[in-house]
Amino acid sequence: TNPGRSGGGVLGRLFKRGDGAPVLRRTLDDAMLEQIEELLIAADMGVDTALRVTANMAEGRMGRKVSTREIKQLLAAEVARIMESVAKPMPLYPTKPQVVLVVGVNGSGKTTTIGKLAAQFRAAGKSVVIAAGDTFRAAAVEQLQVWGDRAGVPVLTAPEGSDPASLAFEAMTKAQADGADLLMIDTAGRLQNRADLMEELAKIVRVIRKKDPDAPHNTLLVLDATTGQNALRQVETFQKLANVSGLVMTKLDGTARGGVLVALADKFGLPIHAIGVGEQIDDLQAFDPEEFAAALTG
Ligand code: GDP
Repeated sequence: TNPGRSGGGVLGRLFKRGDGAPVLRRTLDDAMLEQIEELLIAADMGVDTALRVTANMAEGRMGRKVSTREIKQLLAAEVARIMESVAKPMPLYPTKPQVVLVVGVNGSGKTTTIGKLAAQFRAAGKSVVIAAGDTFRAAAVEQLQVWGDRAGVPVLTAPEGSDPASLAFEAMTKAQADGADLLMIDTAGRLQNRADLMEELAKIVRVIRKKDPDAPHNTLLVLDATTGQNALRQVETFQKLANVSGLVMTKLDGTARGGVLVALADKFGLPIHAIGVGEQIDDLQAFDPEEFAAALTG
């Protein structure tokens, strides 16, 4: 897999003349910087981050001749520097159960990510309980059950349309009684009615805190990397709805222009706990900043 980018890096066009003939070295001047900025913006890095990254690349080098290799190395170093500070696995606490609340818009990959995470925790010898908290989408509950079966993890469900908070409370009670290491709670992702969703998430948090005042220990926001700059808006929205502690970026196996990860890291500094690189159960990886920077740069 090639997380962050498929089909070559973002700087491909920089060292080509109009007729497509390759150029070996170019003077690093304003025209070139502008071109780099445009390429980074086209790769979903966002304007602010693209400008900052380009300025850092150029610092002390204006007017010098640079090669493709040098400019790629400069970009890769700059991207890796930004991304290193956010590449952190999800923190694990000794509390039983450690509660992981999973939020994100429908279609972002919440269900799939919960299934993949459950399988990883199981493989690490941990016992897991899943609560299918998106009680308004029967299909979501069914999907989660399929993933629970695959991961060998029990999935607690409630009748369609019932209160997700009571399910969360029940799941918390069961996870405590079973001595489970982790409880993962899926949540609804309907942003159409934010006030409702906010109240729903707040109520889930309230009831699980009756059982453990420190819960949830992690609130994961799942973001689809292919949505580009939309991902930034989703972080802003969900930070208002819930106390987001970390991100999982999905669909980085596709044609995702992974530049949005750099924008996210630069703007919010939230840890990226994992990346989704496919639809199978083992397609969830730790985020590797060096590998990502190399893939993005090409
Ligand atoms: P939810 O609505 O947020 O629960 O999203 P789902 O988990 O149902 O995922 C929506 C779609 O995205 C499904 O078709 C998944 O197979 C797909 N998907 C999820 N994660 C990834 C990923 O990392 N890579 C790819 N290629 N597809 C993914």
